[in-house]
Amino acid sequence: MRYISTRGQAPVLSFAEAMLTGLARDGGLYVPEWVPAMRPGEIADLAGRSYEEVAFRVMSPFIGAAFTEAELRGAIERAYAGFGHAARAPLVQLAPGHHLLELFHGPTLAFKDFAMQIIGQLFQLALAKEGKRITIVGATSGDTGSAAIEAFKGLENVDVFILFPHGRVSEVQRRQMTTPAEDNVHALALGGTFDDCQNRLKDMFNDFAFRDEVGLAGVNSINWARVLAQVVYYFTAAVSLGAPERKISFTVPTGNFGDIFAGYIAKEMGLPIDKLVIATNQNDILHRCLTTGDYRMDGVKPSISPSMDIQISSNFERALFFAYGKDGAAVAQLMDELKTNGGFSVSQGALETLREIYGSASVSEAETSETIAEELARSGELLCPHSAVGVRVGHAHAHAPVPMVTLATAHPAKFPDAVEAATGVRPPLPARMADLFAREERVTRVPNDLAALEALIRKERRA
Ligand SMILES: *Cc1c(COP(=O)(O)O)cnc(C)c1O
Repeated sequence: MRYISTRGQAPVLSFAEAMLTGLARDGGLYVPEWVPAMRPGEIADLAGRSYEEVAFRVMSPFIGAAFTEAELRGAIERAYAGFGHAARAPLVQLAPGHHLLELFHGPTLAFKDFAMQIIGQLFQLALAKEGKRITIVGATSGDTGSAAIEAFKGLENVDVFILFPHGRVSEVQRRQMTTPAEDNVHALALGGTFDDCQNRLKDMFNDFAFRDEVGLAGVNSINWARVLAQVVYYFTAAVSLGAPERKISFTVPTGNFGDIFAGYIAKEMGLPIDKLVIATNQNDILHRCLTTGDYRMDGVKPSISPSMDIQISSNFERALFFAYGKDGAAVAQLMDELKTNGGFSVSQGALETLREIYGSASVSEAETSETIAEELARSGELLCPHSAVGVRVGHAHAHAPVPMVTLATAHPAKFPDAVEAATGVRPPLPARMADLFAREERVTRVPNDLAALEALIRKERRA
């Protein structure tokens, strides 16, 4: 399997190369040259199998010869062994025809563990084979950073630096990043927003001299291997609700579009997905784009679902690439317009394609809190604010007889203040991390400045 850039100008890479590279050198994102299909019989045969077995069958066609079968199976086993639920991604019924896919049983209580844990294992395998070292730098609005630190801490050939917006992540999120004691992980609190963090990260990737000097690698949701790992739970959920005989819809609390784009890949592989519904908070650039055809930046409004507080949505570029018939030059032009004019208009043809695949809605702060309280009363499920954004949209977009599955992207205990404000109930942390607030923190304050960041990384990484 070969990987091409959404902007058409970067070298074509293998799976392992695309995984270790992250962002393409033309500024684009790597996507598979073609999406391998699964026949209905092969999809039906996933029913009743372990999460790990489904992961192996779904992921291996994309990985090709990068790893042996035994290596890939071993990596998958180790990745999910630390999850707090035997099903890994259990389904819970909220109402007739509406189900919640709980993606928060990993080590940092959010769905990003699904991808990050397997990436840690695959990076380790690939680097050990080649005798190489890398420096991972990530930008996070909260959940990616802790998931990366959990996945890479203590690995011999990897140093990890995570940029997060100072004062804009929850205390649980911050502590999950600042309390691991391993000396190859560094939590950096940047004076700015999540988009500042993401832009400095992009600047580092575009500084080719620095990129090569430190062996820079990315694990943000732009990394193809992360998207791939997230394809798996669309299959486990759909098959347990009757796919491939029955169509299924999904509602996905969305920020950078990585999670919902994985659903699109599942659909392209042959999973009968009816609609993929984008649920956004008040940072609604995606909903506005699907509604008006105009993709325009509008500043970040901090919300009670901070992991979806984005100004631009990085992985949407992948959706555009497919909607524009894999025309890299057209995508490159849109991205230029975004940079110079702060926005662009999607062509009529591409917009129609996007609307066939995706639905969308945005949810206000008040509606989010209301949904947390209502759902607790109605079904007994305590939702995190991100999942509540999804559930509200999922209820509204569920159309019998097609079952709706809403993705629960984080555990309520990760956002206890918002949950308590909505319900009066303070959700406790699971027993395995009950001492989080007693652990010592380690964090470095950094300015929103490329040169200063690069100097710090040069100094702190292990040679
Ligand atoms: C990252 C995150 C999201 C958004 O996922 P994207 O892949 O960026 O769209 C939603 N909810 C939670 C809890 C997250 O951590």
